Amino acid sequence: MKPLNQVVTSTPPSGIRRFFDIATQMEDVISLGVGEPDFVTPWRIREAAIYATERGQTTYTSNAGLLPLRQQIGAHVFGRYGVQYNPTSEIIVTVGVSEGLDLALRTLLNPGDEVLFIEPCYVSYHPCIRFAGGVPVPIPSFGADGFRVRPEEIESRITPRTKAILLCYPSNPTGATQTREDLQALVDIAVAHDLYILSDEIYDRLTYSGVHTCVASLDGARARTVLLNGFSKAYAMTGWRIAYTCAPRAISESMLKVHQYSMLCASHISQAAALEALLHAEHDVQEMVADYDQRRRVFVRGLNTIGLECREPNGAFYAFPSIQRTGLTSEQFAERLLMEEHVAVVPGNAFGQSGEGFVRCSYATGLAQLEEALVRMERFLCKLGCASAAPVAARGAQA
Ligand code: PLP
Repeated sequence: MKPLNQVVTSTPPSGIRRFFDIATQMEDVISLGVGEPDFVTPWRIREAAIYATERGQTTYTSNAGLLPLRQQIGAHVFGRYGVQYNPTSEIIVTVGVSEGLDLALRTLLNPGDEVLFIEPCYVSYHPCIRFAGGVPVPIPSFGADGFRVRPEEIESRITPRTKAILLCYPSNPTGATQTREDLQALVDIAVAHDLYILSDEIYDRLTYSGVHTCVASLDGARARTVLLNGFSKAYAMTGWRIAYTCAPRAISESMLKVHQYSMLCASHISQAAALEALLHAEHDVQEMVADYDQRRRVFVRGLNTIGLECREPNGAFYAFPSIQRTGLTSEQFAERLLMEEHVAVVPGNAFGQSGEGFVRCSYATGLAQLEEALVRMERFLCKLGCASAAPVAARGAQA
């Protein structure tokens, strides 16, 4: 048989899935591995989907998505961030941010175009850039300075082939957010070098201190930015596969062609649910965010108490503690923690080389589970001979 596509065959499977697959085979595992809310989608949203099926909304929709949904998305983005998008020509409803990212990359890139992105980062960026014919150019960021982006690191990697920069704040996996000034400095670089900006803001609502800055709202950004956002995280709707892109008309029109021919439209029922989410689920979002915030404080304090240094993550639902003092690599740490104490975390190197020395722990899981995970992690550290003085159970992992 003739060989399969080389770009695809040379791409390793996701490091997250490998651990998740092992964990699902084991009993009594506390999984801090997979990045999805532990909440079920709020009832009013599920009910809207039930009504939609009852009313027979089981057909295709227009390619760009239901107009009332696009109008609500436009109102939502304008209301929160003051950036205006025309619902009839600049907003596309997509099958997850995953599809939005793919559409944007396939629309913006010619073969060999380089895309900058800040590591450690979401596992899909590197492969998706390659699948779209582009060349991934990771920019390292470092735990020592809170995973802030250093503009000089970006400048030094810009070449005549650089086409775009992909940003994601709040960040998966570090939970880092950036100040408006820092983001403006990145936009200024994009303007100076005529780069497109892809801004994955899927965790925007999960910002715990300060306010989220929408990249498209910064000076000079809107005209060159594809804003990616969706319902998976804020509304606990990962399984509905529903999201959206906002971009200037010329870019959106081209993205719509890719979407039209490859996807046709997002699920009609999920679109009805998403409309309900925007119209009536703000209170549910706020409740879930308050819950994550409480877990974040308990868990991050607990990690630092047991001797795993962890900076305060200001967004998303991930803690990214350093495991350097254990002397293990992040893979060895994650593997042994899973095998010996049945706690699943993701090795930091799954998110790029600069993630080595860290592990990602999702705290989108119940408080009791998080507390038990801390006890097990401390036991593991004791075995390695590097735990803090008193056991966490005795101290109580209080917020
Ligand atoms: N972008 C980031 C940064 C993510 O962490 C994820 C999922 O974990 C996605 C995109 C995928 O989102 P969706 O469920 O909307 O496809």
